[in-house]
Amino acid sequence: MENVYLDNAATTAIRPEVIAEMATSMATVIGNPSSTHSFGRQAKSVLENSRKVIAKNINAFSNEIIFTSGATEAINWILNNAVNKLGVTHFITSKTEHHAVLDTLKKIQTEKAITVDYVTVNEFGIISYTHLVSLLDFNTPTLVCLMHVNNEIGSLLDLQKVSTICKQHNAYFMSDTVQSIGKFVLDVQQLQIDFLVASAHKFHGPKGVGFLYKKKNILLQSLYKGGEQEKGLRAGTENVHNISGMATALSCSYNQLSSENNHIENLKKYTIEQLFANFKGIKINGDVQHTSNHILNVALPFTPDKSSMILFYLDMKGIAISRGSACQSGSNRTSHVLQEILSPEDLEKPSIRISFSYQNTFEDIDALINALKTI
Ligand code: PLP
Repeated sequence: MENVYLDNAATTAIRPEVIAEMATSMATVIGNPSSTHSFGRQAKSVLENSRKVIAKNINAFSNEIIFTSGATEAINWILNNAVNKLGVTHFITSKTEHHAVLDTLKKIQTEKAITVDYVTVNEFGIISYTHLVSLLDFNTPTLVCLMHVNNEIGSLLDLQKVSTICKQHNAYFMSDTVQSIGKFVLDVQQLQIDFLVASAHKFHGPKGVGFLYKKKNILLQSLYKGGEQEKGLRAGTENVHNISGMATALSCSYNQLSSENNHIENLKKYTIEQLFANFKGIKINGDVQHTSNHILNVALPFTPDKSSMILFYLDMKGIAISRGSACQSGSNRTSHVLQEILSPEDLEKPSIRISFSYQNTFEDIDALINALKTI
């Protein structure tokens, strides 16, 4: 039985350096960071040091980083705050965003008088920048929510371009950077972005912890009632060992960025070569140029009845890939992203998402190809 993990867009294995950092933190940091005694101050110092490290990695100020339980919470926090504190009444997003954005906006729509517009996306999963401009006007307080890297097909947004468009139209801009942070250089000051969100488990950190970046001087409030943690912006005792692990994970990712990206790029190229050499009629879903190296989504030239058994069959062989977003994997619903970009005919074909990390090898790809050949 193989042991091949190619589902790194769903989550990643924790780096050994991160495990070491978290183990030290769990063993030695006892206090609650809100306590004023020495134990509390020690925990507070770990927390603030982690904040500094994270801020430095994206060229932010420390007080612009707020710790959360992950990106889902961060997105909920920003979208609700946008309405309640910033007076936003108009959202612009796309139908290929993560459900954390789409479903939160749907919920807000049932409670508040807001409008949501969806910018068009082409067959490669790239948004229309012209359409985006046409949806913006100066007089309506607007938040644009567009993800940097799509989690199902890897398509890439031009963050700088969208940020500039938003500034020109006086709109706020939030980007879901869950799939890009630690894989692309993100300089929030250069980008002039208002909000971004991140989840540690996507960059070889622990699960259940993340952060949001909020440009300074934007005044918002906590989603929950309770303590005064995070300067009153996020009530609840901070998850100190997870946060220190997240900071280490982000630093490791950026320290090794170019060598790891190189390796992942080669893995993706090799996978594409092998798939095209072995499966006549295979198609890549999404863009081949404006894309992240760590995600490859392909429509296999198999009959539709094979769709449900492919993952099961590969799993029996010890190979983990997915059909799309992990949070939708329990349902048999067609991917909302593929639905947006594929023709009805291509949508019928079984599509799979292969997602890579620095830990994958060329042998992993050979194992996947060999297994697919036997289907
Ligand atoms: N946004 C994107 C693009 C994602 O891929 C995910 C996770 O799959 C999320 C948001 C939600 O992240 P989390 O489940 O860690 O809160």
